[in-house]
Amino acid sequence: MSNALSLPGFDWPQLEPGWVWLCGAGPGDPGLLTLHALNALSQADVVIYDALVQEQILSWAPQAEHIYAGKRGGKPSAKQRDISLHLIELAQNGKKVLRLKGGDPFVFGRGGEEAQTLVQHGIPIRIIPGISAGIGGLAYAGIPVTHRDVNQSVTFVTGHDQSGNTPGSLDWTSISKGSQVIVIYMGMKHIAQITAKLLAAGRSNDEPVAVVTTATTAEQQVLETTLGRIVDDIAASGMAPPAVICVGQSVLMRQVLDWQGMAAGARPRNLDPLGRGRPAETA
Ligand code: SAH
Repeated sequence: MSNALSLPGFDWPQLEPGWVWLCGAGPGDPGLLTLHALNALSQADVVIYDALVQEQILSWAPQAEHIYAGKRGGKPSAKQRDISLHLIELAQNGKKVLRLKGGDPFVFGRGGEEAQTLVQHGIPIRIIPGISAGIGGLAYAGIPVTHRDVNQSVTFVTGHDQSGNTPGSLDWTSISKGSQVIVIYMGMKHIAQITAKLLAAGRSNDEPVAVVTTATTAEQQVLETTLGRIVDDIAASGMAPPAVICVGQSVLMRQVLDWQGMAAGARPRNLDPLGRGRPAETA
């Protein structure tokens, strides 16, 4: 049987031999896959997947060969090129290739580079977006990435660049001043440096921060802290990547929106965490 799961009726695209579909797998919970991703899984001959893609998701492509292409942060980019060349080779051999990446392929996932390399080699592609950890992962922690009372902008940043250092190209002062909420991917390694830059740029020691590790999976952990305490608190917690770190007042909303905690029986800690003194939806 080639179809692992049946899809609802729709004119689903066909994954043709020689094509590569570059697809987001979401942050972890298999239920956060898109239907296009499921359609791709049901048709692929080969699935090339990253470290952050859950086993369960791969089991939905039982007919396909599964190839692991995991990379760990900070390693040289040569490996990235090997992955792209492997995709090209598979496509040129007439395979139906599914490249499955964590979250969204175009958000800090080098999906743009892979796609560009494929196109440069004449390989036809399709892009399937996914739910990015910086949005969906925070939602699973009960943190809305935008909230009308908090922020009209949000900035997504990466905590390190290709060399493994905090990105020199980032203007942390402008980001601090310009964006009420900052969501940091790959920030654990350099959290001390990043925090120092944010504080130096005028963010407060008391500013709420949340660290969400392995978000949307059964192992999800959430740490609520402040910019002043985050380095010590992460060390004390023993939390490890992958983590998204959210800096800003929206973190307070978890006090009323920790839906997983509430589903497990906890009461909301504070029905009005921003202290507005009025119903949530008064205009
Ligand atoms: N393309 C991915 C990001 C890839 S970079 C996306 O859109 O989500 C890898 C980083 O993403 C990790 O270091 C971490 O910062 C974040 N990340 C991915 N999955 C995560 C998860 N389940 N929980 C927390 N952070 C996650």
